[in-house]
Amino acid sequence: MTTPFVAITATSRVHDAIERVRVNQAYVQAVESRGLVPLVVPPLAEPAHVARILDRVDGLVLTGGEDVNPARYGAAPHEQTHPPHDRRDATEIALVLEAERRALPTLAICRGLQVVNVALGGTLVQDLPSERPASLAHDGAERDARVHEVRVRDGSRLAHALGATCVVANSSHHQAIDRLAPGLVATAVSSDGVIEGIELEAPGWWMLGVQWHPEELVGTPEDWDRRLFEAFAAACAQRAVR
Ligand code: MN
Repeated sequence: MTTPFVAITATSRVHDAIERVRVNQAYVQAVESRGLVPLVVPPLAEPAHVARILDRVDGLVLTGGEDVNPARYGAAPHEQTHPPHDRRDATEIALVLEAERRALPTLAICRGLQVVNVALGGTLVQDLPSERPASLAHDGAERDARVHEVRVRDGSRLAHALGATCVVANSSHHQAIDRLAPGLVATAVSSDGVIEGIELEAPGWWMLGVQWHPEELVGTPEDWDRRLFEAFAAACAQRAVR
């Protein structure tokens, strides 16, 4: 049996006066515990290198992190929007387009869901508390606390993966999808209308995006998030034997 390899995106951050590549260990553990071999992809100086990277993997995990530069979707920055990380944006947008071209299994988490939407032509709400004041508190600090309900469209790829049409998720985001990119459908939503899950209208590309952090919830009694990683692992394994 071929063990699938999965690319996991990372950011870079200055720590002790040195810029370092970093990614939360929770992503690595969630992937590795489902039988996948994780390979970390840093923000690249040369985004065209993503094609060489994806030649060598069977799946892609787009991780959480900084806000996407609003210039990427034609908006001026809101005062609450983070300073941009242009190398990371360029790398991850290139990864999305290349993964789409190859129909490479892709799991897009939090910022990852937002990157997919922007890469394919959609826009973002830059700050839920100020732009959608009636929305729930989505920017919780407790990363493994299930804080709000998410309704999942019956019959969707996401519902099938989770094994449920209603779950309770964690929430650590102040941005969200505004206008969906062409070809994407919202298959999960919270009670205030915030989009919490996306997939493709056409089923050819296994891509699931979730606004919550399933990697922080794989150890909870509920099996939804373990199932999500298992569905991703199965799609990667199918790819690996080709
Ligand atoms: Mn949320």
